[in-house]
Amino acid sequence: MQLLEDRIRKDGIVKEGDVLKVDSFLNHQMDVSLFEAMGREWKRLFDGCGVNKILTIEASGIGMACIAAQSFHCPVVFAKKTETKNIAGEVYRTQVRSYTHGRIYDVIVSKDYLGPGDRLLLIDDFLANGAALSGLLDLAMLAGATVVGAGIAIEKAYQPGGELIRSRGVRVESLARIKSMSEDGDIEFC
Ligand code: 5GP
Repeated sequence: MQLLEDRIRKDGIVKEGDVLKVDSFLNHQMDVSLFEAMGREWKRLFDGCGVNKILTIEASGIGMACIAAQSFHCPVVFAKKTETKNIAGEVYRTQVRSYTHGRIYDVIVSKDYLGPGDRLLLIDDFLANGAALSGLLDLAMLAGATVVGAGIAIEKAYQPGGELIRSRGVRVESLARIKSMSEDGDIEFC
């Protein structure tokens, strides 16, 4: 998606540890007009797939998932990250290793909000090693829901997550796919 690639070129900052910082428009301050365009693009790509719910993971996915949901006219459920195991009520639970912090979190979704009748679009900001998306797939599987596909804002295509998730038979639509990036600011797209 040209608009997103242009914005990454203009405002993205490559940090050490293979981290692209996009805090000025996506991860901290949020450009809602850009999110609207991204939501419309995911809607175009997944139109006719019967999406009835969007599933994302806290925190960075929530904003863009909510704006995308306005195009899909469906609710958003977000997986909660928690380090405690004492959550009231029945939940689906799996574990995710955080790319940016290295920690392993339990992630949970209430059984009230996901089930076998759901056709899910998974949404997240980044795809790197695929841990976050694998966690969402695990939760969907535990719920018996159908995963229609995954909408990713930025895929770092030189990292293994994209291949891992696609090899599980999941349709992944990334709006910007980075082929390479370096700390001197060079970012090349696929
Ligand atoms: P994965 O689980 O695929 O390894 O990484 C995806 C998750 O890690 C995303 O939810 C995102 O929050 C974070 N992440 C991975 N790579 C980057 C990056 O380059 N920049 C930022 N800001 N977050 C990243």
